[in-house]
Amino acid sequence: MDIILFGPPGAGKGTQAQKLSQKYRIPQISTGDILRANVKEGTALGLEAKKYMDAGELVPDAVLIGIIKNRLLEADCANGFLLDGYPRTIPQADALTVILDEIKKPIDAVINIIVPTDILIERLSGRWMCSCGASHHIVFNPPKSEGICDTCGGTLFQRPDDTSDAVSNRLDVYQKQTAPLVDYYKKKNLLKDVDGTKDIDAVFANIDTLVAPFK
Ligand code: ADP
Ligand code: AMP
Repeated sequence: MDIILFGPPGAGKGTQAQKLSQKYRIPQISTGDILRANVKEGTALGLEAKKYMDAGELVPDAVLIGIIKNRLLEADCANGFLLDGYPRTIPQADALTVILDEIKKPIDAVINIIVPTDILIERLSGRWMCSCGASHHIVFNPPKSEGICDTCGGTLFQRPDDTSDAVSNRLDVYQKQTAPLVDYYKKKNLLKDVDGTKDIDAVFANIDTLVAPFK
């Protein structure tokens, strides 16, 4: 099962990727999580990426293509993977096709999670993340204990790029640089639209029906 979870910031890609990862035992590959881990560790990559991330801009394609290539070659991807936050530009999607052709693992489906802008803003402003990839929300998906991740017991944090200035830039960047991938994958007959406004379990049930045939 080789799946791309696609959609604007706040659509629910990470939330759904984590649920699919638990059900199908394949890794959630979130480029945002990989970049944030590098920022936290203070690696050269993290220092380079931080200035783009804080401003809500995309990190340059060459950096992302290198990250994703290395990650997809790791052993745990042999039975499938869930891409969350990659690709975000046409050059990233082209590079992905080349990498997957080489390892003979074509994409099975691109799940396009559709959510209107006002709801995205509401979700991002109340989001509390965990470094394990889980996302909570103060109203829509509160943790059982305040500030503690339900999945791993880690400490939840608010992302510096979930502040209002960075959010509005990220939504613009999505429209300009990432939304063209909708047509790109539609032409390849891979795109499957999902209504992302329903509650988390209803969205999951819908996505699960779409991906189950690729098990
Ligand atoms: P993305 O990975 O696409 O940026 P997340 O999965 O982090 O989005 O979700 C953004 C926020 O919205 C989180 O706080 C999450 O708990 C919440 N959320 C996700 N899916 C839903 C949903 N279907 N209904 C309500 N809130 C949701
Ligand atoms: P996310 O966690 O997916 O919302 O990503 C957070 C930030 O990391 C984005 O706003 C970008 O700055 C950067 N990022 C994550 N994935 C990519 C990508 N595929 N291409 C470029 N930048 C990315």
